[in-house]
Amino acid sequence: MPTDSTPTTEAATSTDPAPRIEFEDVEKKFGKTTVLKDLNFTIGRGERVTLIGPSGSGKTTILRLLMTLEDLTDGYIWVDGDPLTHDRRDGKRVELKPKQIAQVRKRIGMVFQQFNLFPNMSVLDNITEAPIHVLGQSKDEAKENALTLLDRVGLRNRADAHPTQLSGGQQQRVAIARALAMDPEILLLDEVTSALDPELVGDVLGVLEDVAETTDITMLIVTHEMQFARDVSQRVMMFDGGQIVEEAPPEEMFTRPKNERTQKFLEAII
Ligand code: ADP
Repeated sequence: MPTDSTPTTEAATSTDPAPRIEFEDVEKKFGKTTVLKDLNFTIGRGERVTLIGPSGSGKTTILRLLMTLEDLTDGYIWVDGDPLTHDRRDGKRVELKPKQIAQVRKRIGMVFQQFNLFPNMSVLDNITEAPIHVLGQSKDEAKENALTLLDRVGLRNRADAHPTQLSGGQQQRVAIARALAMDPEILLLDEVTSALDPELVGDVLGVLEDVAETTDITMLIVTHEMQFARDVSQRVMMFDGGQIVEEAPPEEMFTRPKNERTQKFLEAII
């Protein structure tokens, strides 16, 4: 892990703070299939960006790379100017050690389509697990934080329940509380309402809108909920074939898309 006094990137040497997230020449292959190639983009601190595009265009892969759930085939991902998995040293690309990766990775939280709660643990234990074991919080501190977060997502009275006793929407709100308990700088949301019955979607989006309004957490959002994208994000990036084909503020993207592929995609889903 580079120290503050040994900047590893050009961005880190500039007087401007490094972007919160930078993808530099990112390539991702699954076997022989190239899913992302020469992908370059930056996300600013506190920015909320929605990724849209047809199924298979690489949106989830981008989130999973940030979460280090997938290996990066080539290129670099920087978080606040720090390398996530690979650093550039003497012009060479060097893979970081698992401990170094974990240091940066813990600044990032993710909420998945399928909630992914631990089924054998109570709601409270689901939320306090990582703060205790990864951040080293005391049990009391982690519990107090968890209860505050459960209040925020409207589920304090379900702290002792098990995930199977909750509706999908409630489970997803617990998953959001669990991600927030790690006090992330970056929150990744991967189609978090896609597995929910329609009547449960509103509560989950309401919680996320509250998080967007009341925190400066940088958010990367994959969603088909265009009204939500409009309400919470400052920028929308349209992907096709692993490339950004257009990006614009939501109002512009949804009312006056310039690219033909964006127009077709939005016509089909709106
Ligand atoms: P999106 O989120 O835009 O629907 P994904 O990032 O999920 O797209 O997928 C991009 C491409 O990568 C798709 O063609 C998908 O089939 C492929 N892919 C994703 N994960 C895997 C995997 N684990 N193994 C093989 N191919 C994968």
